[in-house]
Amino acid sequence: MTQSTTGIGAHGARLTIDLGAIAANWRTLAARGGGVACAAVVKADAYGCGIARVGPALWAAGCRTFFVAHLSEGVAARAALPDAAIYVLNGLAPGAAAAFAAHGLRPVLGSIEELSDWAAFSAGRVPAALHVDTGMNRLGLSVPEALDLAGDPRIAASCIDLILSHFVSAEKPQDPVNARQIADFARVRAAYPALPASLANSSGIFLKGAQHDLLRPGYALFGGNPTPGTANPMRPVVRLEAMIAQVRDVEAGATAGYNGRWAAAAPSRLATLSLGYADGFPRAISGRGQALVGGVPCPILGLVSMDLIILDVTAAPAAERGATAVLIGDTLDIDAVGRAAGTIGYEILTGLGSRYVRSYVESC
Ligand SMILES: *Cc1c(COP(=O)(O)O)cnc(C)c1O
Repeated sequence: MTQSTTGIGAHGARLTIDLGAIAANWRTLAARGGGVACAAVVKADAYGCGIARVGPALWAAGCRTFFVAHLSEGVAARAALPDAAIYVLNGLAPGAAAAFAAHGLRPVLGSIEELSDWAAFSAGRVPAALHVDTGMNRLGLSVPEALDLAGDPRIAASCIDLILSHFVSAEKPQDPVNARQIADFARVRAAYPALPASLANSSGIFLKGAQHDLLRPGYALFGGNPTPGTANPMRPVVRLEAMIAQVRDVEAGATAGYNGRWAAAAPSRLATLSLGYADGFPRAISGRGQALVGGVPCPILGLVSMDLIILDVTAAPAAERGATAVLIGDTLDIDAVGRAAGTIGYEILTGLGSRYVRSYVESC
């Protein structure tokens, strides 16, 4: 065992992010579009994977257009991507126009007020996108507003270069809301024949009629399954391993962790992992999730602590002090971990912490 202040032993756990897999996933999704341009959604620090490394890897793969949520994320993305088109999905906050322009960031205008502000400020200097709401009721002009606005001088004055909308339930291909949104967006698009259009997020890429001119995948780039219920076409990106700090044998009846939530039904061997909810591993997975030790699935026992997790390693002979357990990776893909925690893989990814060692690899 190496004595290092920077390795897994010093931090308790290691997060490995495969930039080669991210690039391969982007190419897979771009190919699904059959010639349509493919952007990358890299909000929330590239879904927890780190924009500073992920941005250049996607650029090298051929991606030229990026989406973030906030102006601040746009500034970070700009530092990593000097020549990319970067759109800010959450729109134009009051007084923010000059900062957008200074960093060459394009707001995704989500209301008539935002459009008017940008038209007044920009005078066509910096492009922007127009967000049309087709069902989320979150951001965007309504379909009637967008139809009324076609030909309005504020569109040209705002230098709108993209019109977009967002799916409500793209990961559920049978949901009738998809067809309704596809039809509504097609009507809006027809009113703006000169503008490129974008509708598909990761799952939307797999729906008929949703491709338009620009794909906007996020989750699938980072290994999430865009087609739940069928085989995942994406390569895994994230691997989270924690070190075993101790192994101990307990008698039947012994409890483990806070509040004694778990009690041994038989003599058992337990391993304590150096990782907890303060690392972004959800406490909600307590008593439900698993980790792999030497490839053997080992149940997570009792309550996840702030810095520690207890595993039942009775069936895992490889469990010993200094060995590692896999919490995300191999058969424990990001979707499975999300399900075990009663949430979605998106939340697991974006919650990934900064306390463990991060290492980037580039598999081919
Ligand atoms: C987050 C987001 C995306 C990407 O969605 P995924 O499901 O992660 O692919 C695309 N468009 C908008 C507007 C978003 O907010």
